[in-house]
Amino acid sequence: MSAVATDSLIKPHGGTLVDRTGAAPDDIADLKVIQLTSRELSDLDMIASGALSPLEGFMNQADYESVLENMRLANGLPWSLPVCLAVDGPPVGDRVALADESGKLVAVLDVEGTFDYDKEREAELAYRTTDEEHPGVARLYAQKQMYLAGKVTVFERSTPQFPELAWDPADTRRIFAERGWKRVVGFQTRNPIHRAHEYLTKVALETVDGLLIHPLVGDTKGDDVPAATRVACYDVLVSNYYPADRVLVSAFPAAMRYAGPREAIWHAICRKNYGCSHFIVGRDHAGVGSYYGTYDAQLIFDEFEPHELDIEPMFFEHTFWCNTCGSMASAKTCPHPSEDHVFLSGTKVREMLGAGEVPPVEFSRPEVAKVLIEAYRN
Ligand SMILES: [Zn+2]
Repeated sequence: MSAVATDSLIKPHGGTLVDRTGAAPDDIADLKVIQLTSRELSDLDMIASGALSPLEGFMNQADYESVLENMRLANGLPWSLPVCLAVDGPPVGDRVALADESGKLVAVLDVEGTFDYDKEREAELAYRTTDEEHPGVARLYAQKQMYLAGKVTVFERSTPQFPELAWDPADTRRIFAERGWKRVVGFQTRNPIHRAHEYLTKVALETVDGLLIHPLVGDTKGDDVPAATRVACYDVLVSNYYPADRVLVSAFPAAMRYAGPREAIWHAICRKNYGCSHFIVGRDHAGVGSYYGTYDAQLIFDEFEPHELDIEPMFFEHTFWCNTCGSMASAKTCPHPSEDHVFLSGTKVREMLGAGEVPPVEFSRPEVAKVLIEAYRN
């Protein structure tokens, strides 16, 4: 990759794309081993690839406190969620080995220090709730008692669930540049794309050069649609309804935190590292249950000066097919009463698909419905 090629793209967060991959040190077998949870492993891999630039490791106390209190790193750069490694106590020695859930060594961490943290306080500030029923909060409460800070070097990258979609930030930037895209809009999703989402990605694409459909394939709740099914849906949708030279589908390896507004900021910053200049923020982005207001994840962007994030959020409302307009629309663009709109609740859609029924074509593309009906059948 030539440096010139990607100059026309937005700069990574903090100015430089971090690369924390490297060789295993010679003394790796002698180091104390810390086993990471799946969320920590996903963070580790994203630090390695530069998806979490400018982070070079797990946060120290100054960054952690500043992120919780001010939504900024200690140096003032916007950052909305803790990226921390929980341990039982201070490790022996100044380096530790990090292992995956099977015990395989994947990285080394140069110990900067350890610090205590208050789980309820982190829950309140990062998740806006201390309710242990919240899946992100539940995971936080189940963590070990202390945080370990330090830079990491990853010598064994995670095996991607979808190798054909596993593009690192350096890869997406190269692909965007090769295609001549300067302005690229990122779309985060953890659901199959129905007509509403197809519409807003296309409205966004009308104003920029390219679209990155970036489904999250890390940990999600058990009742979310499995990633393999979602990926099959994106394949049929994109190959039938999007011009191939304007869209890239790639997997976003993050684990869901379900932190709503703060996670929307975090998702935007990550997409900036992947080379996106714009980022779609819909209703209840990264939310769960009724913990967040419908537009909280959009309003939180007002807490930053526009130049601070650099990546530009694009806000969308609930969209639907209107029979009278004869097109997709939203409350912003359609004056007709709700009887004119094709609306199906998530529950209703699941019922239909489970019964092998194809939802109306105004709601879902038949090719996508077919994949979902097939998935329900199995
Ligand atoms: Zn209308």
